Amino acid sequence: MIIARTAVELRAALDSKMGSVGFVPTMGALHIGHRTLIERARVENDVVVVSIFVNPTQFLPGEDLSKYPRREDADFKICKLSGVDVLFYPDVNTMYGKDEVSIKAPDIRGYILEGASRPGHFDGVLTVVMKLFNLVRASRVYFGKKDAQQLSLITQMVENLFMQVEIVAVDTVRESDGLALSSRNVYLSQEDRVEALKLSASLKRATHLVMQEVRETKAIRNAMMDILQPLNVEYVAIVNRRFEAISEVIIGDTIVLVAARAGSTRLIDNVWM
Ligand code: AMP
Repeated sequence: MIIARTAVELRAALDSKMGSVGFVPTMGALHIGHRTLIERARVENDVVVVSIFVNPTQFLPGEDLSKYPRREDADFKICKLSGVDVLFYPDVNTMYGKDEVSIKAPDIRGYILEGASRPGHFDGVLTVVMKLFNLVRASRVYFGKKDAQQLSLITQMVENLFMQVEIVAVDTVRESDGLALSSRNVYLSQEDRVEALKLSASLKRATHLVMQEVRETKAIRNAMMDILQPLNVEYVAIVNRRFEAISEVIIGDTIVLVAARAGSTRLIDNVWM
């Protein structure tokens, strides 16, 4: 595995490889969710590139940027064991200069739900993703459905800016008790972790109701809120794939999302129907 820390090193590493490139952008503290993306990229491409970069522009003032888990040694080992060919591990000066051009998320889809709780977050996400896409020039890029709104906005950016890359969406990987894997789960105390299970439990309830032919989103939302009590819920939303609110579930075009705090840890989860 080649470790590239600068744009020049990355280009040299990629120029030494032949064939299709599959790319998995991450912020590190790698877990089985990330590994699943890497394994999928490994199966579908000749060359696999992973980036690890905790992107400061997607954190708002007061968010956990400085506390965000960093696990360099373990992450390098995981990448090596997963068959990664090139690990891109830049520092902030490689990725950003002063007074730069940046990407602006769309006014509505970029500023609802996650974007309402974290205004400007998706501007930072799209900007760093654009930079990484231009650096790696991959054939396929792999993202988790766990970050559904992020995935939707990146897909929209690729369409709107006529970018030549295929976005591959990968199902959310969970613990056996339902908790969606997340780098932020390390912040959860034992009690928080029990509370955190309410997110996936509420989504299971939503799925169950839909299987029982319930379609009215208000009824599904209320049933979810009952399960989520007494968590500090930021939102429960039922939207179509374009992230527009809907009053009736349409199978094949619906995402049910939840964001809530377990203790002081902010968690998100969703289910695609
Ligand atoms: P992050 O390091 O949190 O920025 O995540 C990097 C990529 O891994 C993103 O595309 C995430 O959506 C994806 N990811 C994170 N957690 C999971 C999970 N539990 N299952 C599948 N993909 C995930």
